Amino acid sequence: MQLHLSAWPEIEAYLERSKAILIPIGSTEQHGPNGLLGTDALCPEIIAKRAGDEAGFLVGPTFNVGQAQHHMNFPGTITLRPSTMIAAMTDWAQSLAHHGFERLYWFNGHGGNIATINAAFAEIYHSVSLGRSGANGGPLRCMLRNWWGLPGVMDVCRQQFPVGEGSHATPSEVSVTYFAYPEAQKQVVMSPRIAPNGPIFDAADYRRRFPDGRIGSDPSQANVQAGEKIVSAAVKGVIREFQNFAGA
Ligand SMILES: [Zn+2]
Repeated sequence: MQLHLSAWPEIEAYLERSKAILIPIGSTEQHGPNGLLGTDALCPEIIAKRAGDEAGFLVGPTFNVGQAQHHMNFPGTITLRPSTMIAAMTDWAQSLAHHGFERLYWFNGHGGNIATINAAFAEIYHSVSLGRSGANGGPLRCMLRNWWGLPGVMDVCRQQFPVGEGSHATPSEVSVTYFAYPEAQKQVVMSPRIAPNGPIFDAADYRRRFPDGRIGSDPSQANVQAGEKIVSAAVKGVIREFQNFAGA
């Protein structure tokens, strides 16, 4: 069940049986020469949609632009300042809380978002405490889960791609998007086959160190079959965890 494909009476009825919602959150940023700019938003969205359909829980619209400053020297990347992202997440959370949602499960697809998401949680909790004449009884609870951190998911990724998984524009994440959007597959010869590793500083330095955008990976291995296996493992994991969180 997806919020943006529902009508308000359906959301009103859902709130009678559950106060929990999953919100996919990611980034719009370069993912190497064959990876989609939407990869980090699409991965959690793809997994969440399947999980929500299977288990009957509500999936919110995808918060699809995040912390991508260091990818800004590659065309197409869109980034939010941390302060903007915190403000936007707070407004999303307060809107949902206004309707009665009490459990917000933020399902993340981008490592660079983690610090800002946690800062946003602090802002959200402040807005609950300070917004009610100092009362401290708000039932609102937020949780962050990175899709690759679900139990068993990285094991499946390593089985599929024992060499060249790397850390940015990985064959695993590209496979997840190719599974959902096979028409968007791109055949690109990678040179070198496995991208260099190194630290991340600002945007200009990033493009100098990683000229085609990849870090440590060979995403030319990405394929639909691997994507299906990774998505299946993640769907199982997220259903179990979301249901526990919803009932907590
Ligand atoms: Zn990514």
